[in-house]
Amino acid sequence: MRRAAGGLLLALLVPSVAAAAETADLLVRNATVVTVDAERRVIRDGAVAIQGGRIAAVGPAAEVGARYSAAETLDAGGGLVLPGLVNAHTHAPMVLFRGIADDLKLMDWLQKYIFPAEARNVTAEFVKAGTRLAALEMIRSGTTTFVDMYYFEDQVAEAAKEAGLRTVAGETIIGFPAPDNKTIADALAYTERFLKRWAGDPLVVPAVAPHSAYLADPDALRASRALADRYGAPILIHLSESQDEQATVKERYKKTPTVHLRDLGILRKGVLGAHGIWLDAGDRAILKEAGAGIAHCPQSNMKISSGPAPVREMLAEGLRLGLGTDGAASNNDLDMFEEMLTAALLAKHVTGDPTVAPAASVLEMATLGGARALGMEDRLGSLEPGKRADLIVVDLSAPRLHPLYDPVSHLVYAAKGADVRHVVVEGRVVMRDRKITTLDEAAVLADAERLRGQVVQSLAK
Ligand SMILES: [Zn+2]
Repeated sequence: MRRAAGGLLLALLVPSVAAAAETADLLVRNATVVTVDAERRVIRDGAVAIQGGRIAAVGPAAEVGARYSAAETLDAGGGLVLPGLVNAHTHAPMVLFRGIADDLKLMDWLQKYIFPAEARNVTAEFVKAGTRLAALEMIRSGTTTFVDMYYFEDQVAEAAKEAGLRTVAGETIIGFPAPDNKTIADALAYTERFLKRWAGDPLVVPAVAPHSAYLADPDALRASRALADRYGAPILIHLSESQDEQATVKERYKKTPTVHLRDLGILRKGVLGAHGIWLDAGDRAILKEAGAGIAHCPQSNMKISSGPAPVREMLAEGLRLGLGTDGAASNNDLDMFEEMLTAALLAKHVTGDPTVAPAASVLEMATLGGARALGMEDRLGSLEPGKRADLIVVDLSAPRLHPLYDPVSHLVYAAKGADVRHVVVEGRVVMRDRKITTLDEAAVLADAERLRGQVVQSLAK
């Protein structure tokens, strides 16, 4: 108040000075700011000013503080402020199947557990409850944007909005009867309604999500492209996740999945392929040329033994490379800090080269890389004026974060999701001092436990 009154007095006396004093909605201060901007600046004693859901200024606290007075202040407590993490591939509602069955071959796991459990349980209500649970977990571990492919995506989007999270979401278009849409034509019609309903939403970016080159036929893929073009929407798809997929597509079309998608006219900027494990040099050149992105999912890939993705090559070749958890049934959590650590370690382990996937590259994968993979780097992924105000504050008080030489090293190799203290999405504080401000956490957990009982019963039948 005193500050505002002083500003007013100055405005009356010296208009030219007062013109520089602006009001921000939120000022994040007392922080080391890891910007992930073009110069990869790390600003000690930095601050971030937020106005109208956008970042207005990032810089030394003295500069930002001199320029902005704020309606609300968020004290970072000397912690690290960084762009909110982008989970570039998940199936959020699948948290309700977390730990239902582990340590199985992919086809056993899918056919004996996941498909029956989905067929008997997945409803609009189930998806909404699952997405709320996933949202709690994601906010608590620093994710501000999640890229989702599942069923009943209207409920995924509704729950994301309730939680205050950003999502890029697409209804799965798949060549067998899903819990909601029974045919590809139904799924395409659902997708068009979904694209219309969420157009222009500040938090929900509606996408088109054909499952893959092996579970969506060429007509479905072409129709998906046409819808994406008509509504300016991204395309989400699984790409080269398994050797079975490679073999099936090769047998059917005499091509790799990537060449198949290119020949159908699918690939361009704004297409995000999940996994990308079996991409060869030709596939990678096609994706790079097209501007399409890849979501690397190291923990899921390891758990299902799908193989290691060519991360060294994708980084060296400058692909648009993001990082994702995949669904919690094959991870089994949505913690992007774990995913960063795993991405760094796995790439070194499989290449025998510890210089591969350095901390800065991995942090980039989880932030700006995810934004680039979506073709949304103009809006998301770094702390720069003009971008959407999605940021997290990582507390540094845990013993495991002392001493501190290099903030980026700690973020990838030593920090945990539980170190995230505050989370801001679109300028709104959705977690403050580890307290979620948007959802009723106890009610969401109680709902999840109730649904667990239902899932157990359904599988006993
Ligand atoms: Zn997936």
